[in-house]
Amino acid sequence: MISGEKVIQIINEIADKIEENKSYLTELDAAIGDGDHGLNMSKGFRAVKEKLKDDDGKNIGNIFKKTGMALVSNVGGASGPLYGTAFMKAAVVVSGKDNMDIDDFINVLKASIDGVVMRGKAQAGDKTMLDSLIPAYDAAKKAKDDGKDEKEILKEVSTAAINGAEDTKKIAARKGRASYLGDRSIGHKDPGATSSAIILETVYNFIK
Ligand code: ADP
Ligand code: MG
Repeated sequence: MISGEKVIQIINEIADKIEENKSYLTELDAAIGDGDHGLNMSKGFRAVKEKLKDDDGKNIGNIFKKTGMALVSNVGGASGPLYGTAFMKAAVVVSGKDNMDIDDFINVLKASIDGVVMRGKAQAGDKTMLDSLIPAYDAAKKAKDDGKDEKEILKEVSTAAINGAEDTKKIAARKGRASYLGDRSIGHKDPGATSSAIILETVYNFIK
């Protein structure tokens, strides 16, 4: 079980990790996109941090809603509305809750994926953030079914997300700017899948 205050701490930690990886994410995007993913994410999460500064942490739904809205309104690139929608859909799942458990987390992950799909119409294998998020969700469900505990589940989630992002090197982009390159995008890691993996790895590292 984690409190809303902890959720805010995790989101702040995510913002810091995004900041640390800003040039890396931008570099990945420079290879197959327009080289702004790190900048977009950094700008977005700085706005999120600012928006959560005075939050009392009492309603996790509100925390996610504020996060989503800050991302949508502060990020120019495709990733802003996509991540923004993910957090806003996640907000609905934990609306009014002042604590969340691992089942809530798994439901949040599922709602986030549904939000990204709804907004961007991509699917697994299109070389997008979904290629990190979907394997992460599948790993969560499997670990849960195998009777693993919270930390073990989050570890599986983190590993699956990292591997999923790595595996985007093998496929050609079919959505987003990278899709203009077609097969020439093969060999490059997708920036959005990488930022998703950073986010989920940060959650695991915080909880462990
Ligand atoms: P932009 O492409 O507008 O410059 P960013 O560079 O911030 O925006 O984000 C690019 C990332 O967004 C890609 O690496 C990919 O993971 C993700 N992305 C792009 N289009 C989609 C989509 N339709 N569905 C899901 N993710 C997408
Ligand atoms: Mg870009």
